Amino acid sequence: MTGDARIIDGKATAAALRAEIGREVAAIKATRGLTPGLHVVLVGEDPASKVYVASKERLAVEIGMNSVAHRLPAETTEAQLLAKLAELNADDSVDGILVQLPLPKHIDTGRIIDAIDPAKDVDGLHPINAGLLAGGKNGLVPCTPLGSMLLLKQALPSLSGLDAVVIGRSELVGRPVAQLLLQADCTVTIAHSRTRDLAAVVKRADIVIAAVGRPRMVKGDWIKPGATVIDVGINRLPDGKLTGDVDFAEAVKVAGAITPVPGGVGPMTIACLLKNTLTAFHARRG
Ligand code: NDP
Repeated sequence: MTGDARIIDGKATAAALRAEIGREVAAIKATRGLTPGLHVVLVGEDPASKVYVASKERLAVEIGMNSVAHRLPAETTEAQLLAKLAELNADDSVDGILVQLPLPKHIDTGRIIDAIDPAKDVDGLHPINAGLLAGGKNGLVPCTPLGSMLLLKQALPSLSGLDAVVIGRSELVGRPVAQLLLQADCTVTIAHSRTRDLAAVVKRADIVIAAVGRPRMVKGDWIKPGATVIDVGINRLPDGKLTGDVDFAEAVKVAGAITPVPGGVGPMTIACLLKNTLTAFHARRG
């Protein structure tokens, strides 16, 4: 059953964003003879990671970027991976570097992220980029938080003064999205697994960003009527279907606007990776 909430279409928004980036890439090629380059590094055979890397590669090619996937065997050592990153850091034609996570257990993820040139860190996870964001200055911003904000602003052009609750405090999603909301002048609460009475905390929010990883945890009666709900969660149910962290069927009857899963934040993540590659190109090559 569908209620009154406006459904925020992440698929269409992502397609429009990719088309816009594609036009800019074409203009750069035509006027400067340069092509922005995205390099994705995959170590090992994780099936989900292989699918993600293939989509990133395909969509970057589709908009005219140079797109290279470096597929390294699972037994690649940390030293070999660091050497690959040093090579990509030094190559002027490489604008964006993304190391697909998770890495095999014998590799220290933090050490690898630290080794990416912050100017090419299109995942926005390097401590320099995280520090810039925490200081209210944008370097490269993580893709999923950036995509979530673009969808949110579509539903609510002015965020100033609104109460926002972010559920989840990961480095990848919760923390950076909270920083972006603060930059947009929201009053931000960050909830997590130790939060007391999460339902009451969510109930007072004009904006709810759910980034937990628990299927349909956020119930319809937790949502303030008319609130905007951005569901970042991607959870696979036993029947193979994907669902978000929000109980969509309930929440759609209460919210003012809501993102579906699939078709909400998910498609925005790759579109924002391409956007970040272009941002990195402009920042580094003028
Ligand atoms: P993490 O597992 O790193 O973080 C989950 C967060 O949720 C933690 O901060 C945790 O709290 C909090 N949490 C767990 N249980 C509860 C609970 N019962 N009540 C309140 N908070 C809770 O996950 P990520 O941030 O990486 O990802 C979150 C979700 O977003 C996942 O479903 C993931 O698949 C999805 N995702 C989607 C992307 C997309 O492109 N759409 C991209 C990245 C992620 P604590 O810190 O206390 O443990």
